[in-house]
Amino acid sequence: MDRGSQGGDALLRVWRAVAARYPSYDLVLPGENSFICCAATCNAWCCRALSVPLGDADVQRMEGASGLAPARFLECEDGEPIALPLADPYLLARRDGACALLEAGGTCSQYAGRPAACRLYPYQVAWLDGKTGNPSGRDRAGAIALLLRHRECPGFTGPRLSEEGQAGLLAEMLRLQSGAESTRDWSERET
Ligand code: SF4
Ligand code: SF4
Repeated sequence: MDRGSQGGDALLRVWRAVAARYPSYDLVLPGENSFICCAATCNAWCCRALSVPLGDADVQRMEGASGLAPARFLECEDGEPIALPLADPYLLARRDGACALLEAGGTCSQYAGRPAACRLYPYQVAWLDGKTGNPSGRDRAGAIALLLRHRECPGFTGPRLSEEGQAGLLAEMLRLQSGAESTRDWSERET
């Protein structure tokens, strides 16, 4: 069986054991409302409240899509991008309490090149050991994938997810997490 598509009972059991570790997230199962971005009404909350990490692939994508030098869209010190000792070492530049790429109308000025974290949001996938609930590498035996959604996002107002819809969403998020390009866009976000 695809380790990313276990039955709902097993996922729920693991989630109940680990939910306290993810206080800002809910588990996404079939039957939950799907996501429709409402940036105009939430005033692009996520682009204001969250600081966005980038890896090297993100920086290259943004540079290629925008034509901007990295120092134009990354947090810098003395004119050079700050690189933290993390897997995703860079941060999107911020200005006036929001991402510097956010436009006045609540749209993203560099939507095509936006980082993986922005493409994934408001979802994320947690890989856990199905027996212990401890974080696990996605390729380890017994690893299961939990599709989570961020509670602060007000966009979970769409039609309820079918089993196929939830599985497709999880597959897409896994693709994005592994660095692949997106095959879906949140249409409200582009307008
Ligand atoms: S992803 Fe959620 S928080 Fe961000 S702009 Fe869309 S609705 Fe608002
Ligand atoms: S890059 Fe775009 S989507 Fe991401 S935080 Fe900035 S404005 Fe928002």
